[in-house]
Amino acid sequence: MKRRDFLKKVGLGTAAVAAAAINAPAVLAQQKYRWKMVTTWPPKLPVLQDGCERLAQRVNEMSDGRLQIQVFAGGELVPPLGGFEAVSQGTIECASGASYYWAGKEPATQWFAAVPFGMNAQGYGAWFHGGDGLKLWEETYAPFNLIPRPGGSTGVQMGGWFNKKINTIDDYKGLKMRIPGLGGKVVAKAGGTVVLLPGGEIFTSLERGVIDATEWVGPLHDLRMGFYQAAKYYYYPGWHEPGTYLEYFFNKKAYESLPKDLQHIVDAACMENEQWTMTQFDSLNGAALETLINKHKVQVIKFPDEVLSALRKLAEEVREEEAAKSPMAKKVNESFKKFHKTVSGWGSISEKVYYESIAPQA
Ligand code: CA
Repeated sequence: MKRRDFLKKVGLGTAAVAAAAINAPAVLAQQKYRWKMVTTWPPKLPVLQDGCERLAQRVNEMSDGRLQIQVFAGGELVPPLGGFEAVSQGTIECASGASYYWAGKEPATQWFAAVPFGMNAQGYGAWFHGGDGLKLWEETYAPFNLIPRPGGSTGVQMGGWFNKKINTIDDYKGLKMRIPGLGGKVVAKAGGTVVLLPGGEIFTSLERGVIDATEWVGPLHDLRMGFYQAAKYYYYPGWHEPGTYLEYFFNKKAYESLPKDLQHIVDAACMENEQWTMTQFDSLNGAALETLINKHKVQVIKFPDEVLSALRKLAEEVREEEAAKSPMAKKVNESFKKFHKTVSGWGSISEKVYYESIAPQA
């Protein structure tokens, strides 16, 4: 049977065939994608887990339901720190966490989350979107089949909850503190004993004196953990996490299998959430700090300047030691340091001076 006869027989004219061909991209555009996202956070954790739910909702709305992401808290589908592996292998399409969790995979990952005495939220945002920060992050994650996107920052964290006063750097000697990451390495260098505890065990350990101190996030999350009932002093600033950046990351194959417009929707939703996350931390931390001080009578104390400058020296040593662990870490550290210097130079005559001039009067 000739093609034309066949088409006549099945009732399709040439016009209809041409229309079907033209509509092929439209058919692809109507394809629905169902993804899973796993996170490192406990269920319902304000801003962090809530933010992932928000991201999924926004992607769903912007794509008119073409891309739907189901979000699972840490441990619901894979262990809380299992996301990197699962998304890398492609069993899960995407995840959220903080990139310093993956230091064991590649030391360079730590620079994209928090560096003690490193950049704050504003500096990080500038490095990612105005400098080569995101490009280097993509390069760091590429060998793992992952595409990262910045997820917003916690802002400057708090220094932590202490049952012993820190008057000199020597007060860290023998101090048992729960403090992960590069900050923990600095405390260890100062003579402290670093204890790693899952979130659920911190309060009891602090209350029973198993640890002398702990850091967590900032007023909003610390208030929720009830640490004011277990420790006397609330120190600031969080020199160890001066602007911890969160992350979303995607399996490369899954991301690239999306039509271009859906890729743009994913990117736009991530960036929108990046901004949203920072506004939540800034607005809610202020109110939580007022509650801690006024209602729970918490003593909020600044680390002495001499302690901060001693910690800073140790932090630089730790950073250079970590940078020497891989070529990628070395490359990222160089970019970070260069950008930090420039962005701080500007910040020191703009934001810093302005903040000082608007400090609330006692
Ligand atoms: Ca922290």
